Amino acid sequence: MISFSPRTQTSIEFAADLFRQSKHAVVLTGAGLSTPSGIPDFRSTGTGLWSRDEPLEVASLNTFRTAPQRFVEWFRPLASQIFNAQPNSAHCALAELEKAGHLDAIITQNIDSLHQKAGSKTVIEMHGTMQTLTCTQCYHQVDAALYIASFVENGELPRCPKCDQTLKPDVILFGEQLPQTAWSKAQQAARHCDLMMVAGSSLEVLPVAGLPMQALDRGAHLIIINNSETYLNVRADVAILEDVAVIIPAIAERVLHG
Ligand SMILES: [Zn+2]
Repeated sequence: MISFSPRTQTSIEFAADLFRQSKHAVVLTGAGLSTPSGIPDFRSTGTGLWSRDEPLEVASLNTFRTAPQRFVEWFRPLASQIFNAQPNSAHCALAELEKAGHLDAIITQNIDSLHQKAGSKTVIEMHGTMQTLTCTQCYHQVDAALYIASFVENGELPRCPKCDQTLKPDVILFGEQLPQTAWSKAQQAARHCDLMMVAGSSLEVLPVAGLPMQALDRGAHLIIINNSETYLNVRADVAILEDVAVIIPAIAERVLHG
């Protein structure tokens, strides 16, 4: 058993109580949930992949179209890290909460599919996924697993088996709109829930960062677990400024086994 400070212990217990009392809990996850799995937060400067180059520009739809080789150089190490990553204890604890009926859905800003790898079923992916690729010409969609190994190895963008045009990973790049279906599902979940837990997100990227506010406005409780402050910590019922991979399993343990 890990021992926590009295303050953290109280917060964990309170968070677990909120989960037990809720009928429709939803979790919103961000990059911080996957850093314990070795995937860098590629939005934060200094630590992330985006600081190597001009991240906002490189990760854009425009770069993909006009300078695909630059895009590939940026994307290759990320693709390799993501495909080799394994879910951590936070992913697994959330999957268990869902399985036991304490969690309706996970809304995620991550593109690594680690929630699904951990066994979560209802995952709303706001920034797309690395699991599939879509043709930029004919919109034929393929399973990324068939292409990723050779892409990581030789750095050539995979081509469409039907029309030979470039296949683009189904992740949302800068300059692209959020996927409409995912966005309406996320809004619905946020408006319908009676408890939202934000985990590993600094709530800096709009419009996803606005979802907890929608939940709060409809009277939902809010838990925030992140290693830095967010704009909503002042309004949260519980805010824990610690590692998600330690805190979430502790909360789940208490929800599931008392
Ligand atoms: Zn095609």
